[in-house]
Amino acid sequence: MKAAILREFKTPLSIEDVQQPYPDAHEVLIEVEACGVCHSDLHVADGDWPQLVPITKRPLILGHEIAGRVAEKGASVHQWEVGDRVGVPWIYWTCGECDFCREGNENLCAKQKITGVTVDGGYAEFVKVPASHATKIPDGLSAADAAPLFCAGVTVYRALKHARIQPGQRLAVFGVGGLGHLAVQVGLDLGAIVTAVDVSDEKLTQAKKLGASATLNSAAVNVVKELRRAGGAHVAMVTSAAKAAYDTAFPCVRGSGTLLVVGLPREPLCFPPIMMAATEVRIQASSVGTREDLGQVLAMAAAGKLRCQTATRPLAEVNEVLEQLRRGEVSGRIVLLPR
Ligand SMILES: [Zn+2]
Ligand SMILES: [Zn+2]
Repeated sequence: MKAAILREFKTPLSIEDVQQPYPDAHEVLIEVEACGVCHSDLHVADGDWPQLVPITKRPLILGHEIAGRVAEKGASVHQWEVGDRVGVPWIYWTCGECDFCREGNENLCAKQKITGVTVDGGYAEFVKVPASHATKIPDGLSAADAAPLFCAGVTVYRALKHARIQPGQRLAVFGVGGLGHLAVQVGLDLGAIVTAVDVSDEKLTQAKKLGASATLNSAAVNVVKELRRAGGAHVAMVTSAAKAAYDTAFPCVRGSGTLLVVGLPREPLCFPPIMMAATEVRIQASSVGTREDLGQVLAMAAAGKLRCQTATRPLAEVNEVLEQLRRGEVSGRIVLLPR
């Protein structure tokens, strides 16, 4: 099969013909119809984040926003049939037995395997996964529309769900890229009044079209002043990987509000403890999502409440796509088509 392979960090992926994987008894082989390109793929390809997970598998096939169909199944697989439409997220496998798994936070499982990081992912024509961790794609949702929900979608969904935002409360979304434009839609569905913040007028126009009630260009206006004048945000979600976005977002949160950490700058984040205490702001991080979160976000999309802006490109163009992403030139999500 054709696959994009990582051989060395910080070098382009090579498109090669490799052995098609063979599913074990409890696995399914998925024919990949679409695989989203996530910002994390850049970090994996560059060998960043050694403190998160040492990437020892090489050669490695990246890609963790996979949508496709069951092409083959192992002898012990009963929940799937050949032809079923399924997807695979960042979390490839969890133990099901540790405290985190049992308390409903399998995304924190210490034994987890990660798609396209510790095991081969979806920048390929086929991928094999544990049958227990494939997720059904609802009818009416195309593979290209579904794929980005397996990371970008579930990530913003879980973060906002845990922020417990109430209808009528103010949500400020910092960064209206692949994650941010989904956060605007999830926030609206939860009944929030959404303000979008970005440095790109084009992205802000998109946020407005999606239903944001206000937009602020942080390169042109004093965002802190504007948001505080309106009473501050009950929840500020930063999807941008710029530390400056956090520096701006923190003072925009109203007392007892929540700063949601989703975008991941390289530098540590610093906030004045006196302001943290004086406002009782909660600083809450979030990491992808569970299978339950994923089912909910896919249902939301199937109901027409959430749509990822996608553009499709052939798998062979993966390196150009990654470079575009690195330069910040991607609005919405680019989805690779292996065929
Ligand atoms: Zn991702
Ligand atoms: Zn576990």
